[in-house]
Amino acid sequence: MLKLPLCPYCKAIYRYGDVKKNTHKKSIKCHNCGKSFEVSYLKGRIIFICIVAALLIVINILLLNFVSGITILACLLITVAVVGIAVLLFPYTVRYKKTEDEKDKKRA
Ligand SMILES: [Zn+2]
Repeated sequence: MLKLPLCPYCKAIYRYGDVKKNTHKKSIKCHNCGKSFEVSYLKGRIIFICIVAALLIVINILLLNFVSGITILACLLITVAVVGIAVLLFPYTVRYKKTEDEKDKKRA
């Protein structure tokens, strides 16, 4: 599930920085084949956030039950660290999709 998106037409690879920069653009033109495609990140991000949230609950339950003398502050710091890592992984949840326009062009 976690990988950087590829151009849906020519499978050109996009770097982390480029993906991050273009996340909120509606459409992007491929630097390799010149065709435009849509950016889709919402669905992947929602699923990813749900997984991270579930993971955090499990981590905190385990910490509180099995680590003796753990403080709420330590739990909070670990939670913040995990959220920070999750935010860094956001570009890996972005997907590029063929636009309807390009599909129509192919058919015509
Ligand atoms: Zn391309």
